[in-house]
Amino acid sequence: MSADLHIHTNCSDGTQSPEDVVSLAKEAGLTTIAITDHDTFDGIAAAQKKGQELGIEIIPGIELTTEDCDKEIHILGYFIDVNNPEFLAAIEKIQKAREERIYKICDKLKDLGVEIDPQKVFALAGHRVAGRPHVARVLIAEGFVETFSEAFKKYLDFYGPAYVSHYKLLPKEAINLISAAGGLAVFGHPAVSNCDQLIPDLVEAGLAGIEVYYIRHRDYQVKHYLDLVQKHGLLATGGSDYHGIESGREVKLGDHRIPNELVEKLKHEHARRNQSK
Ligand code: AMP
Ligand code: ZN
Ligand code: FE
Ligand code: FE
Repeated sequence: MSADLHIHTNCSDGTQSPEDVVSLAKEAGLTTIAITDHDTFDGIAAAQKKGQELGIEIIPGIELTTEDCDKEIHILGYFIDVNNPEFLAAIEKIQKAREERIYKICDKLKDLGVEIDPQKVFALAGHRVAGRPHVARVLIAEGFVETFSEAFKKYLDFYGPAYVSHYKLLPKEAINLISAAGGLAVFGHPAVSNCDQLIPDLVEAGLAGIEVYYIRHRDYQVKHYLDLVQKHGLLATGGSDYHGIESGREVKLGDHRIPNELVEKLKHEHARRNQSK
């Protein structure tokens, strides 16, 4: 009985379809997974259908990119009502901004002497939610760089010369959007953002949990975030941030698991919060 609560599909910047991801989860012996694509619910229905077939529980999720303190902060949302009109309107705006952002990234690359056609990026993304990994894949295909990490290091990283900000969203605003749509907001991979000083304010805004057991969190970081979870009365979650094969990431589905007991706690908190509404 084990779960993975952070998984991407090709509906955003993963490389595999929702159905394939669910099949792999089954093979890996996972019993519950959350699909947490960037800024979209597009993969949820297909994953749930396949999940029913294979006896895998699919928790609806999303990962929203926010910015504060000059850092990128990822907020995961679980159990959101995927038909909530306000939430859908918000992610539509965010998706539109992502499209414009691809053009801006390509403009910046052009100024750096690296010319790629934005349409190639959209074609690779299958006209779904596009992001930097799609740009990186075009850069590799066109021979400008050899690897994902080179693409990010040279051009696309947060402090890189072709970086373009996302739709302006504060972590607090993301938490409010998620909570208002009946979901639970979780601070994704906090050690990557490295701005723990924000946590008290995020708790005040309704943060429900912290992604303590993240694939790239070291043992001492896990311990540190467990302490913070206890201190603030939050839930601990975890996941692999799986992006599929040939995604520039090594992790395989099933490599990183959390016990289902943590999922049960998340469900109880979801029920508790929505009862008192
Ligand atoms: P975006 O949503 O466009 O800001 O792109 C963010 C995504 O880029 C992350 O979710 C990762 O999938 C990927 N990413 C970020 N940094 C790196 C890196 N150094 N190497 C490979 N992929 C990365
Ligand atoms: Zn991603
Ligand atoms: Fe993330
Ligand atoms: Fe992610």
